Amino acid sequence: MRIRTGFGYDVHAFAAGRTLWLGGVKIKHPRGLAGHSDADVLIHAICDALLGAANLGDIGLHFPDTSAEYRDIDSKILLGKTMEMLRMSGYELGNVDATVVAEQPKLQPYIPAMQQTLAEVMQVDPDDLSIKATTSEKLGFTGRGEGIAAYASVLLTDRITYSET
Ligand SMILES: [Zn+2]
Repeated sequence: MRIRTGFGYDVHAFAAGRTLWLGGVKIKHPRGLAGHSDADVLIHAICDALLGAANLGDIGLHFPDTSAEYRDIDSKILLGKTMEMLRMSGYELGNVDATVVAEQPKLQPYIPAMQQTLAEVMQVDPDDLSIKATTSEKLGFTGRGEGIAAYASVLLTDRITYSET
């Protein structure tokens, strides 16, 4: 079985008058994240990790922020399209391990809903999606509450080999 790993990283700054979306879930918070899309930083990091593992470029290449088509788009749509591209290239998801870095809000209560939501979009088992939340101990831009960062690592397996065995 062929396996490939991928890594993704993304950052968005907080902005007034925006809804906060993380992992496909609406989060209760006075501020959302700035961005061309809905600015779901966790989904973007996962998409980049998936595309990286398949060596298919990055999220900016496939869904350019200069395109009107993607203005305020629900990032779940981008994730669904990314999974479609992977499967077309002969890959299946092994697992995702992601970390969101945010001083505020506390994300722990939202993690089961994020796993459930993303599993449905990606058509995978929620058990294959690990989502963790941490702070940066008040250090740096995340620590000062200026924005949220997300990291994701993924494993892809070869879909074709799977069906033969
Ligand atoms: Zn992004």
